[in-house]
Amino acid sequence: MKPTAFDYVRATSLDHAVAVLAEHDGDAKVLAGGQSLVPLLAMRLAQPTVLVDLAGLDELSYLRADGAHLEIGAMTRARTVETADLVAGRVPLLPAALRHVGHVTIRNRGTIGGSAAHADPAAELPAVLRALDGELVATGPGGRRTIAAADFFRGFLDTALEPGEVLTAVRLPAQPAGVRVAVQEFARRHGDFAIVAVFAAVELDDSARIRSARIAVAGADQVPVRAAAAEELLAGRPPTPDLLVAAADAVAAATRPTDDIHAPADYRRRIAAVLTRRCLEQATAARAERSTAA
Ligand SMILES: Cc1cc2nc3c(=O)[nH]c(=O)nc-3n(C[C@H](O)[C@H](O)[C@H](O)COP(=O)(O)OP(=O)(O)OC[C@H]3O[C@@H](n4cnc5c(N)ncnc54)[C@H](O)[C@@H]3O)c2cc1C
Repeated sequence: MKPTAFDYVRATSLDHAVAVLAEHDGDAKVLAGGQSLVPLLAMRLAQPTVLVDLAGLDELSYLRADGAHLEIGAMTRARTVETADLVAGRVPLLPAALRHVGHVTIRNRGTIGGSAAHADPAAELPAVLRALDGELVATGPGGRRTIAAADFFRGFLDTALEPGEVLTAVRLPAQPAGVRVAVQEFARRHGDFAIVAVFAAVELDDSARIRSARIAVAGADQVPVRAAAAEELLAGRPPTPDLLVAAADAVAAATRPTDDIHAPADYRRRIAAVLTRRCLEQATAARAERSTAA
């Protein structure tokens, strides 16, 4: 199928993009890497009257680190983030997760802002933002605001962005120096969206006890799931096999999957438990790397 007719505007600045969106009062859509939007247009699941292309906005393509945070401009390509030393050193869960996004060609085009704004519940970036208490920065006619990831992802392909707002950046807290990360995904084939994916960042103390754990699940609810009860269970304890199984069960209990054509809900819940156990084994293994991908 072909898209319905639309006008195309190449934004010359962030202010220009916001002005064009405001002018069209909810009928305009932002175009970033096009990896999700173009198929939606072709299937006529999206029918905007105007596309506002952000491709020329170099001001939205950057990686910046201060003492406590890493900030990523919305138009930064997924592949740039995945391969940057600055990111690997500060937030190692992010490149470990992005390696699982589609194929390299998709990551070369797809942007960080596009992935967050699209808000697919099976996507990697939203789950990492939830796991690490990330923030999203948006600019609209009313000015600039920062939204916690916990409030940003509202439902299936639904975010807290208002119609006239452009997502300009995501912010992630820099992780402690010794953090160990693991990502486990179950997909029908390489490059597909995961049926279920689990993301974990674990800090061990000098006695190899778990000082803190952060866990999120994709593909097991309409939004990424943060597994707070499992994190509390793990904190302060040695990573025994029984504890990891109990934590895996707690993660599964936090999910709210639904049946769909890919998998029944109970199957997704069981997979979430298995993948969590594997993540925790990997992240707490004696010789775990600081940054590892499944
Ligand atoms: C074959 C294939 C496999 C894929 N597999 C995966 C996968 O495994 N995991 C995964 O996470 N993703 C996957 N994707 C999606 C891919 O990662 C997309 O790049 C991403 O979802 C959207 O990013 P984009 O920059 O292409 O955004 P676009 O497609 O341009 O836009 C997506 C949506 O976000 C809005 N938007 C974009 N940028 C902004 C902004 N700055 N402010 C406000 N709204 C904005 C658009 O209006 C649109 O509604 C896959 C895509 C394909 C084609």
